Amino acid sequence: MSKEKQFVTEITPQQEDFSRWYIDVIKKADLMDYSPVRGCIVFKPDGFEIWEHMQEELNRRFKETGHRNAYFPMFIPESFFQKEKEHVEGFNPELPWVTEAGGEKLEERLAIRPTSETMIGHMYSKWIQSYRDLPVLINQWANVVRWEKRTLPFLRTSEFLWQEGHTAHETEEEARQETMQMLEIYREFVENFLAIPVIMGAKTPSERFAGAVDTFSIEAMMKDGRAVQAGTSHYLGTKFAVAFDIKYLSRENNLEYVHTTSWGVSTRLIGSMIMVHGDDRGLVLPPKVAPTQVIMIPIGPPKTREQVIGRTDELYKELKQAGIRVRVDDRADVSPGWKFNEYEMRGVPLRLELGPRDMENGVAVLVSRISGEKRVVQQANLVAEVEKMLQEIHDDMFARAKQFREENFSFVDTLDELKASMEEKRGFYLAGWCGSAACEQQVKEETGATSRNIPFEPQVKKDTCLCCGEKAEHTVVFARAY
Ligand code: AMP
Repeated sequence: MSKEKQFVTEITPQQEDFSRWYIDVIKKADLMDYSPVRGCIVFKPDGFEIWEHMQEELNRRFKETGHRNAYFPMFIPESFFQKEKEHVEGFNPELPWVTEAGGEKLEERLAIRPTSETMIGHMYSKWIQSYRDLPVLINQWANVVRWEKRTLPFLRTSEFLWQEGHTAHETEEEARQETMQMLEIYREFVENFLAIPVIMGAKTPSERFAGAVDTFSIEAMMKDGRAVQAGTSHYLGTKFAVAFDIKYLSRENNLEYVHTTSWGVSTRLIGSMIMVHGDDRGLVLPPKVAPTQVIMIPIGPPKTREQVIGRTDELYKELKQAGIRVRVDDRADVSPGWKFNEYEMRGVPLRLELGPRDMENGVAVLVSRISGEKRVVQQANLVAEVEKMLQEIHDDMFARAKQFREENFSFVDTLDELKASMEEKRGFYLAGWCGSAACEQQVKEETGATSRNIPFEPQVKKDTCLCCGEKAEHTVVFARAY
């Protein structure tokens, strides 16, 4: 077996075992490693750089809409959690506690934050006195800990990295607008930056964030038909304001509770991106997030090597100057074929090949990772051609992901129909729901599918509940989820 062949067959095919494929790919592409602590992973440089690009883009969007970054402590006094009943019930099972420090038992246990509504609520109650102090628009980049029972690298880890926005407003209307604005920012970012189509909608009460009045999410479909909640935005009403006594003197001179929101996306986005775009040859990274967007590989016989490498370096400088993340692999002891496979496995969106004949003709060859399309382009226009092709690759990735989602999206009327369909094919199923938690629970028990969200724009509206047959209050997306 050739070296190339051997390399590729080390990745389990998706059809054979999707979970195995996922682990093979993230390990081989060197994005992460397991740590000695259960459920906690190490982000290796390529994995972390993907996160850094996401952070840059999100920060830009947050700041453009008036938010500023701040940082709050990771230790939260136990008494803070007791203040909001639903919040403590939701998070208690997942909290790790610090009980001793400096060799002494602490007077009050400290939780390691699973999210910061309580700490931030406490601080906001000190900072907010009058309507002149509002709105408060703060975001924090941090690590949080939720002691998850089932874990999967990136998608569900015990410690994860995220951003959490926390805002306080004078009115419900303003806070609700903020909640929607941030959901829309997530949609736009995930679609236009990660090339992942999402469904925006409201969570059902049982799937709401603990302590929220309303939770909204964006949901994405992975290549095995399962769903991932890719981001959430919560309208918290005055619940945390009451719990933490965040009051302000209104324009009418009354003491009022503020209305708060919170919203977050995490390193789960990395896992989603891999599961949406990857294939049997490995990762396929969306160009806007890829640590290396273009890999340049000089080719040809030893006698022209120096010359080809010289020209490659000149073109490299031009691309780099234009802000393109580009690298050259001119190792002499590794064959071009091996390199092609290696960078395909690592998901580099675009390969540039340059050989002696291309040099004579003033051209270079660009090869797309996603489609395999080869394009001969003029060196004189290289920057423009590369930028154009990177954008086309992004568009192609988005279109493929959307088509896949459409092919695996259906409508059902009854639970039996859902059961049969789920057995045949995983995917998203739109169905009517009466609004009762009991029906939702029954669907979960019998099919393994949970309600993902109530889409803002369902493709069809269903009149009857799939479970009890009563009048449907909502049309809901059901799917098995990560
Ligand atoms: P939440 O505060 O529960 O609304 O979570 C905010 C976002 O963090 C969710 O939309 C998920 O994308 C992500 N998230 C929640 N739990 C985990 C986890 N255990 N690992 C990685 N990401 C998570």
